Amino acid sequence: MTADKGYRFETEVVRIEQNDRFGSSAPPLYQSATFRAQDATHAGEFEYTRIGNPTRTILQDHVAKLIGCKYVLAVNSGMACLDVITRLLEPGDELICGQVLYSGSDRLMKQAQKKSAVDLRHEDLTDFENVKTKVTKRTKMIIIESPTNPLMQVVDVRKITEFAHSVNPECIVVCDNTMNSPLLMKPLDLGVDIHYESGTKYLNGHHDLMAGVIASNRKELIEEMHSVIESIGSGLSPFDSWLLLRGIKTLVLRMERVQQNAIQLARWLESQSFKVRYPGLKSHPQYELQRSQAAGSGALFSIETGDVKLSERIVANCKIFFVTISFGCVNSLISMPFREEATGSNPRDLIRICVGIENIQDLIDDMDQAIRKARRFSDV
Ligand code: PLP
Repeated sequence: MTADKGYRFETEVVRIEQNDRFGSSAPPLYQSATFRAQDATHAGEFEYTRIGNPTRTILQDHVAKLIGCKYVLAVNSGMACLDVITRLLEPGDELICGQVLYSGSDRLMKQAQKKSAVDLRHEDLTDFENVKTKVTKRTKMIIIESPTNPLMQVVDVRKITEFAHSVNPECIVVCDNTMNSPLLMKPLDLGVDIHYESGTKYLNGHHDLMAGVIASNRKELIEEMHSVIESIGSGLSPFDSWLLLRGIKTLVLRMERVQQNAIQLARWLESQSFKVRYPGLKSHPQYELQRSQAAGSGALFSIETGDVKLSERIVANCKIFFVTISFGCVNSLISMPFREEATGSNPRDLIRICVGIENIQDLIDDMDQAIRKARRFSDV
C-alpha cells in the first residue's frame, strides 16, 4: 500500500515530518497554552492551543499523509469526532445510520435527535436493496460503521456512498473507520465525505490516551468543524497529540501481528463449535465484501456460545485476556457487550474478543483452559 505521496505506508508511518530548529528526532511537544504574537497587530502562526497547537498540527499533517487526504482534525475522543460531525446538521435534517452500531454512537445520535430535532433513522445498511428505498433527496447525512461493533457486520461503503450522492449530491456520507485504521481501509478513497475514527484504539494501540481523528477533502466541512472544535476546546491536547504520534509509528507492526493472531484464534474457536463473527473467516457472510474494500479484517471479533452462563464463566476464567471494554490495544481483551449497552440489541451470550500481540499459543491455551473450566462447571 503506498502513501499518497512519497514512500509506502510502512515507511511513511515512521517518517514524521517536522522542522524543529534543533533537529530533534522525536516531534517536539509544545506544552503551551499560549504563543507570543510578534506585536499588537501581528499574530504568529499559533496563538492559543484551543485554536491550534504545533504538536497537534504535526499529528494532523502526519495522519493526513497516511490517509492520503487534504485535511485532518485531531480531537479528544472518538465520540468527540461524532459530536463535531453531527453538529453539521440542522434541526429537521434527516440522518440515517445503521441498526446496530457502537452503543456510545447510538447514545450520542439519540441525544442529537432529542436536543437538536435531527430526524434520526436507523436502517439496515448491510442490505443495499433496503438502503435504495430509504435514502432520498431529504437525506442530509449517512453514518456508516463497518465492520460494526460488536456484531461485525460489514457495510458496502462504496455502493452506499455512490447511491447516496446520486440521489442527493449534498448528502454527507460519514464512515467510522475505528475497526480498520487507515492501514486497512481508507473510506475517503471509497467516496465518503468524512472519515473519522477513535484514535484511542488501533491508531495509538496502547490504551494510554483518548483521541479521535476526522479526515476530509472538503474544505468547507473541515472549516465548519474546526470552528466548533476551537469554540469548545475539544482539540486533542499537546501531550496526547505527542503520545499519539509515538503510538502511530508501530501501527503497521501491531496490525500485522494482531491480525495473524486473530485469524488463528478465530479458527480455533470455530473448531470448538462456537459461532464466530469475524470477517476474516470464510464462514462470515461478508468475507468477500470486507476483502474488496479493506486490506485486512482487523483483530476484533465476537463469538456466541449459546449459553449466557457459559459465556460469563469463560470470560471470568481467562487469565491473559483482561476483562476490559474498548479494543485496539497490544494486550488481548475480552468483554460481554450485552452488559455494556442499554438497547439490548446484542445477543446475551455474545463475547467480544480483541486480540493482542501476545504469543498465539499462550492465547489459545488460555482460552482453552477457560472454556474447559467453564464447561466442567456446566456439567456439574
Ligand atoms: N467508534 C467505535 C466503533 C467504537 O468502538 C468507539 C469506542 O469504543 C468509538 C467510536 C468511540 O471512541 P472513543 O472511546 O475514543 O470516544
